[in-house]
Amino acid sequence: MHMRRPPSSAHIWVHCGSSPAMIARYPQPETEENREGTAAHEYLANTFLGQIIEIGKDRAENGLVFTEEMEEGAAEILTDLLKHREFFKLVKGKPEIQVEQFLHCPSIGPDNGGTPDFFAVDWANRTIYIWDYKFGHRFVPVYPNWQITNYVEAIINYVGVPKSGPGSENWHVRAVIGQPRHYSAETLREAVYPLESHNELLLRLKAATALSEDHKQVGDHCRDCPGRHACKELRESSAIFVEEAGRSSPEDLTLENMGVELRYLRLAEKRIKARRDGIETAMLHQIQSGKQVSGFIAKRKSGRENWKLDPETMEGVGETLGVALRKEAVLTPAQARKKFPQFTAQFDAMSERTYGAEELIEVTEEMLSAIFKNQ
Ligand code: SF4
Repeated sequence: MHMRRPPSSAHIWVHCGSSPAMIARYPQPETEENREGTAAHEYLANTFLGQIIEIGKDRAENGLVFTEEMEEGAAEILTDLLKHREFFKLVKGKPEIQVEQFLHCPSIGPDNGGTPDFFAVDWANRTIYIWDYKFGHRFVPVYPNWQITNYVEAIINYVGVPKSGPGSENWHVRAVIGQPRHYSAETLREAVYPLESHNELLLRLKAATALSEDHKQVGDHCRDCPGRHACKELRESSAIFVEEAGRSSPEDLTLENMGVELRYLRLAEKRIKARRDGIETAMLHQIQSGKQVSGFIAKRKSGRENWKLDPETMEGVGETLGVALRKEAVLTPAQARKKFPQFTAQFDAMSERTYGAEELIEVTEEMLSAIFKNQ
């Protein structure tokens, strides 16, 4: 079901009143990355529900073959989900973990609703559990997270957690994000916070529904706005930041001045990239639908080369040819944990994550807020 204010875009519409109209006006064409994400979600949901999936052979509903990366990527969050399913069997109340269930959320707005990946409610311990799986590369914080805030509110409405009076005190949220393609942080991240912290964020989501359509606010969220190629304010803001960066005096490049110039340059870069990506997506869509665009053509990137036949058949072909086509490899730590969960502690002690070179990170309000909440 398509909603004008979906939770997946809450990080955009919480800032910009124009974005719901942009989302409706410019539906995003499906990219290869979206299709992979959809298949990866299907792998996780179906495996959690007990289906046996053959990697390299079985296909998702959108036709993509389930890959080793999907299997490996799902391992950590799946382990956490299965562990909690066992736990929920032991607690009284409503023990099931719900999978991809659409939830309408009229307490935010009549046009708000979406489909959380997994959720459950532990009534005995007054905790709302939510799991969100991300198959993209860009880091997604677990708190504060507008999409999770939106889902938690929808869950509260759906299951009937009391919002005031008896039974409404001492509730908590346990939010988990599994993001296997983001390597520079833990790929499974958890935050536990009181419902009061959720309610603070919720006030901002609700207030955003009252923003007028003329209220355009440019920011990092613009990179995900489907209307970014058509937004005058975004185009103008990049020029403003380039101009501001040029105001610093090169003779007096103190550390403080460097920080100011770097901040403006990064902002300009982000705005230009958001706009460039938007224009590229819109033009590609036009070319794919048969239009001519002067000076540009659409060309497929060369992808991974795959066998046309399934792995077992190719193994047999190899035997006929007298060569071994099966790759024997030691399992990765994530695969080992999934296959032998009873040895998770030993595997944890024997594995390590590698880190790249240090990079300059700008401290954001969200980071400060997360540090504050964790203290
Ligand atoms: S690109 Fe324009 S319309 Fe879209 S979120 Fe940014 S300011 Fe709002």
